[in-house]
This record gives sequence, C-alpha cells and structure tokens, in this order.
Amino acid sequence: MSGTLLTGGAVVTMDPRTGDLERGDVLVRGDRIVAVGADLTTHPDAADAAVVDTTGRVVAPGFVDTHRHAWQAQMRRSIPDVSDLGAYVASTLGEVAPRYTPHDMYVGTRLAALTALDAGITTMLDFSHNSRTAAHSDAAIRALADTGIRGVHASMGPHFGDWDRQWPGDLERLCADHQGAGEGLVTIRLAALATDEIAGPSLAYGKELAAVARALGLGVSVDAVFGASSSEAILSWADTDLLGPGLCLIHATGLSPDAWRAMGETGTTVSLAPSSDAQIGLESAVPAVDEALAVGIRPGLSIDVEVALSSDMFTQMRTLLAIQRMRAVRGVYGSGEPVPDRITTRDVLDFATRQGARTAGLGESTGTLSPGRQADLIVVDAGDVNTMPLNDPVGTLVLGADARNIETVMVAGRIRKARGRLVGVDIDGLREEVTASRDRIVASLGQR
Ligand SMILES: [Zn+2]
Repeated sequence: MSGTLLTGGAVVTMDPRTGDLERGDVLVRGDRIVAVGADLTTHPDAADAAVVDTTGRVVAPGFVDTHRHAWQAQMRRSIPDVSDLGAYVASTLGEVAPRYTPHDMYVGTRLAALTALDAGITTMLDFSHNSRTAAHSDAAIRALADTGIRGVHASMGPHFGDWDRQWPGDLERLCADHQGAGEGLVTIRLAALATDEIAGPSLAYGKELAAVARALGLGVSVDAVFGASSSEAILSWADTDLLGPGLCLIHATGLSPDAWRAMGETGTTVSLAPSSDAQIGLESAVPAVDEALAVGIRPGLSIDVEVALSSDMFTQMRTLLAIQRMRAVRGVYGSGEPVPDRITTRDVLDFATRQGARTAGLGESTGTLSPGRQADLIVVDAGDVNTMPLNDPVGTLVLGADARNIETVMVAGRIRKARGRLVGVDIDGLREEVTASRDRIVASLGQR
C-alpha cells in the first residue's frame, strides 16, 4: 500500500482538536489520512511515500456539496434569469425532465461530478429526482462511480410526466446493486419533498417513506422545505418521531420558531442553499443561518440547480457570508430584526466541509483532515495572481480562491486533479457527449 506525503503547506484541518498548522505535513496511506503534523518525514509510514511539496499552498479538506440536482448539468445556465421557483418547476421539472433518457442522466450527472471535483468538491450529494425508470437511477449512480467522487445518490421519483412508478420500491434493489459502488465511494439515501404542494402526495416525506428508509437503514434528504406548510409538516414529524440526525432538511427558509425548536431538539441536520434561496427567492429568500445557529444546528451548504445558479462552493460561502453580515448590520441600523452575531470566514468554511459531511451522513468518515479519516483533500496555490501573498489561509480559501487555484484534488487517497487539471478526463470527448445530449433534449422539446 503506497502513500503520499504532502509537505510544507499551510494546513487547515477544520478539526477543532488539531487546529491549523502554519506549516505542516499531511501523510496519506491507502484511502486514509495517517497523520497530520509539523514534520512527518521520519514517520515510519512516510518511508516509501511519494512526496508532494506543498510549500506556498494551502492544504484543506475537500468541500462537501449537500444537495445538487446533478442530472440537469447539460442544461446548466439555460434559465439564468428565472423569475421564481414556479417558473423553474414548470420549465425544468415540467418540460425538460420528462425528455431525459438514462443516457442523459449519465451525461448530466457525470458532468456535474467532474465540475465539482475540478472546483475542490470531493463529496457531492446528488439529489437525483428524475428516476423515471430503474435504468435512470442506475445510470446516475454509474456516473458518480465513474468519476471517482465521493457520491451520495439520493433517489427520488420525478415530479411530472410518465414514469414507471418503480420508486420507492426500487430502492431495495438500488441498495443491493449499488451501495458501496465506485470502490466504496457511493452511498445511497432516500430523497423526498417536504409537502404535497409541488408534486402531490407520493413524493412527500411522512411515515410511509420514513418506513422505507428505516427498513433499508438509509438517511433521508428532504427538499423544498419552506414556509408555513413545511413548518406544520415538521411539527407533525416531531410528533411521530421522524426528526433526527439521519434527516436533512434543505433550504429551511421562512420556517416557524416552533419548527426550528423541534429541529434543534432532535439534532436534525440542515442544508442551506444560499444562492438558490436568495436568487430564485425561496420563501423569505434569506438563507436561514441565524435561525439554525440559534437552535444549535450548524448547517451544511449546497449548490442546488445549475440551470440558474453557479456550480461551486466558493460562491455559496461568499454569498452566505455577505447575506448574514448584511442582516447583522441592518439589525444594528434599526431594521427591527434581531441582531445576530456576525459569522466568520472560518464558520462558512466549517459549513462547507465538516458540517457538510455530517449533513450528508458522512460525518464519521470525511470533512476534516484528521488521522483515520478518509483522505479527501485539496491543495490550493497561494502564489497565484489572485491569492498572493499568503496572509491568512482561511481568508484565502473563503474570499480569495477559485477553482483555477486548486492544483490537486484527492478523494480517498486517489488524485483526481493534478497540476490544475482533472486526471484521466478527455475534455474534448466530454464536450462532445454533453453537447450531443443537450442538443437531443432541446430538439425533443421543440417536438413536444
Ligand atoms: Zn433542490
């Protein structure tokens, strides 16, 4: 079993027990981090390790995207100025989704996963809500496995149009066939909506879907959680013992104080989608970070839909930081709203890594640079024109860097991006495949 020794970088572990190292080493063996320390060159496991000099770089955990509808990626930015949620639902879920073949599911999901890896996202929860047939699900999972990302396939049936009605019954087969696919990197979750408002009762979370998840030992991610109706649903879930750490509520905008209290008391996890909440305008349109923190929930972050939003975690971290601080300052200037403490760059980096891992059900295995954890990490050049000179590694990661500065991406000890380029990906071939799929979908829209 060979290893890798990353030497001399500024190491941001995001592990509160270890803290950061101004200059340090990270030793990887197989799929795990063996040690993090000031100088590991004499560590017994370093003897035959490949040495990577990370001087002048920041070494950090890979980002965790806790909710993205990956299948849509070949339609990315097709509705950049979409006016609201209803318009997105009518166009992308109502018109485009029914045109997707299993192959289109594969192409979109693979493109999203590769884009995530390129931007330093080592774990992506694919909220795959276009499972029209068993083959659609299989293709989406195969795409995750083929890219080498740590992929969470959260499976849900489609909102509209013809489909096989194989979900959620097919989940048992999905687990048998695919749990641990991609050499252990793929895990399965159940996905659902908060209420029956968007697509009827069959997709709405409640005791039936919770029973399916429990029987298979699956975590659950619930999308479209907002407003009075979701608040009511959350209180009914509290009454029937359906809240808890295995449940992730996505968006969580405009919820009632009672709903938040129930979520906090049960350790329910929350995924904020800052650009989605604000730009598409979900309920109150304000990412609910202060509400979450007030009840002791540290949220994960997510990208949501590439059809109208950016694809990377830097955008999410900066959007959330700016909106939360705007809110805090407005409170000081008499908006009448409560005045929350200002969050920090380290807070948003924590949300984008460690808390994201917990939120995606992977808090024991990834999200920090800690001995024993999976080796999911990024190496960021702090000597580029936009990152030099290195004064504060967390500030550089959150405010300065973007995907171009990410030199190396490692998932489970395997290098997926090196010298600033995705490893083993034929970009010309990818472009051809993506364009052909996009063209076929658009042509079929014309036929109606
Ligand atoms: Zn969503």
